[in-house]
Amino acid sequence: MTATIISGKQVSEEIRGNIAIEVKELAAKGVVPGLAVVLVGEDPASQVYVRNKEKACHDLGYYSEVHRLPAETKQADLLALVDKLNCQDSIDGILVQLPLPGHIEEKAVINAIAVDKDVDGFHPVNVGNLVIGDDSLLPCTPAGVIELIKRAGISLSGKHAVVIGRSNIVGKPVSLLLQRENATVTMCHSRTANMAEIARQADVLVVAIGRANFIDASYVKPGAVVIDVGMNRLENGKLAGDVDFESVKEVSGPITPVPGGVGPMTITMLMQNTLIAAKRHHGLV
Ligand code: NAP
Repeated sequence: MTATIISGKQVSEEIRGNIAIEVKELAAKGVVPGLAVVLVGEDPASQVYVRNKEKACHDLGYYSEVHRLPAETKQADLLALVDKLNCQDSIDGILVQLPLPGHIEEKAVINAIAVDKDVDGFHPVNVGNLVIGDDSLLPCTPAGVIELIKRAGISLSGKHAVVIGRSNIVGKPVSLLLQRENATVTMCHSRTANMAEIARQADVLVVAIGRANFIDASYVKPGAVVIDVGMNRLENGKLAGDVDFESVKEVSGPITPVPGGVGPMTITMLMQNTLIAAKRHHGLV
């Protein structure tokens, strides 16, 4: 039996539709959400991501600024720009596109972004608030994963969720958010023993490892929900997930494709975070 496909594209469009309505309401109050994106260097993938973010802002009627800086930009100059954006009234959200060139310490840059404008949700204060369950700007991809699951009508309460991957930007925050939704969470990583056996216990399997088509049907319990965060560029230029979609969809329950699954949700959640930041900035929440 072939599984239901969870379309991130469709869910993204729904959420963006709701955001557009809120943007109109804010405009009537004289508020325009503003996002500043900073790109250092010429990494081709980063250039595509930044262009997509710029387009999403344009489509939703946000104010946006893109600062494209040369790869040899000094850390002090980047920090000075972040500081300027922290103080700029028209800017509600700041995103510094990662990865940064090797001579710049990412941590120093992330820590310099004002907590209230940290729409990537990577600042240690936002991460800490996520851990203790306080209000925070949530990291976009993990928030997108939860939103996709919920909007597909899947309840997480009491379910066993297995997350494969423990990175700071995906695996760890996803597992915290799943726990917040009352799932029982197991995390796996590169040193996990008997990973297929553990994965097969999952009602909900979230995979974020960065290995093309690694997770095949032997990791999946029949009927389990499968969320593939992976985005791997193959030699033929095509995009592949971490999950071997063709074999897994024959045993799984609802499953996200790549492309068109988690990917579109990331920018949508960035737009959502910028809207939240704008409302907070103007005392509207
Ligand atoms: P990352 O920082 O490289 O972390 C990978 C994680 O996977 C690590 O925790 C690693 O374990 C684990 N891992 C690697 N190989 C494994 C294996 N064979 N078995 C079990 N665990 C394994 O990667 P990331 O930034 O989390 O990204 C993961 C994937 O998601 C990538 O394909 C990335 O492109 C994609 N991604 C997509 C979006 C989106 O918008 N859709 C956003 C972010 C990332 P150790 O900790 O033990 O090393």
